[in-house]
Amino acid sequence: MAIFGLIGYPLEHSFSPKYMNALFRKEGMDHYYEAFPLKKHELPEFIKHLRLFNVRGINITIPYKADVISYVDDISEEVELIGACNVIKVENNRLIGYNTDWYGFLKPLELEGIDVSGKKAFIYGSGGAAKSVLYALSRAKIGQITFLARTPQKAMDMIDMVGETYPIKTKIVEWTEGFLDKIKEELEMADIIINTTPLGMYPKTETMPPIPDMELKGKIFYDLVYNPLQTKFLKFAKDRGAKTISGIYMLMYQGAKALSIWLSGEYEKKVKEIFEELNFI
Ligand code: NAP
Repeated sequence: MAIFGLIGYPLEHSFSPKYMNALFRKEGMDHYYEAFPLKKHELPEFIKHLRLFNVRGINITIPYKADVISYVDDISEEVELIGACNVIKVENNRLIGYNTDWYGFLKPLELEGIDVSGKKAFIYGSGGAAKSVLYALSRAKIGQITFLARTPQKAMDMIDMVGETYPIKTKIVEWTEGFLDKIKEELEMADIIINTTPLGMYPKTETMPPIPDMELKGKIFYDLVYNPLQTKFLKFAKDRGAKTISGIYMLMYQGAKALSIWLSGEYEKKVKEIFEELNFI
C-alpha cells in the first residue's frame, strides 16, 4: 500500500482524488490518493516529510507548481525548461520532479490527428499552464505563437526560457483596452486557439475569453478549463463551426502519464475508462 496525493490551494473542486482512487480500486491496488490543501507556509515542511511516510507520488496544482521545484532533489529536463512541476515521485528517499501537463496537452491533439508543425497558435493568458502549452507546441514544431497577456512580462520570460532549446516565432499582445481590434487579425491567421486563463471555469461559467466577430470555421479551439466540460468559449466556437477540445482530456492524459511515472506500465486506456465511468467525459 502506498499513499499518493495532490497539493494545491484551494482543492475542493479537484477531480483527481475521485478518479485516482476509482482507478486503484478497479485495478485491485490498495493504494490511496488524498487531497492536501496547503497554505504556502506549510509547503516546505510538507514536502520534506514526504520521505518519512509511505508516499510514492504527489501531484501539484495551482499555485505551487513553480514553488515545489526548490524543494525536490532532482528535476526532469521538461521541468527545467517549463519552470513548473506537477508530479513528484518519491524514489529511494529522493524526490524527483516531473512535468506531465505538456504531454497531457499534446496527446488529445495527436489523437485527433492534428499535426501542429508549421501552424499558427493563439494563446489567451501567460500563467503556469501556458508555460506547459508553450513548451508542448514548441517541441511539436509549431510555426508561430501569439500570446494575449494581461502581464506581458510573464509571456516574455517563458518565451526566453523555452526558446533557448526550442526557438520559435512569437508575438505578445497586451490584454488592455482596445485589444480586440489588435487580436482580430492574429485570430484570423491562427489555426489553433487556446484558452489558458481561468475564464469560464466553475462557478463563473458565464465568462469567456473575448472573440471578435469573425469566421471561426475550420479552426481548432482548445480550452484548458475542464469544469464545465463544455465551456462558454467552446460552445461559442462549436456553434460557429470550429472543432473543439475540452481541457478534461489534458487532465486525463497528464494523470495517466503521472501514474506511469509512479507505478510503471501503461495507464491511458484505464484512466479513460474511469473518466467514462465517472461521467467526466
Ligand atoms: P495561473 O498561473 O493563475 O494563470 C492564469 C493566467 O490567466 C494568467 O496569465 C492570468 O493573468 C490570466 N488571467 C486570469 N484571469 C484573467 C482575466 N480575468 N482576464 C485576463 N487574463 C486573466 O493559472 P494556471 O495554472 O495557468 O491555470 C489556468 C487555467 O487552466 C485554470 O482554469 C486551470 O484549471 C486550467 N488548467 C487545466 C489543466 C488541465 O489539465 N486541463 C492543467 C492546468 C491548468 P496574470 O498573469 O496577469 O495574472
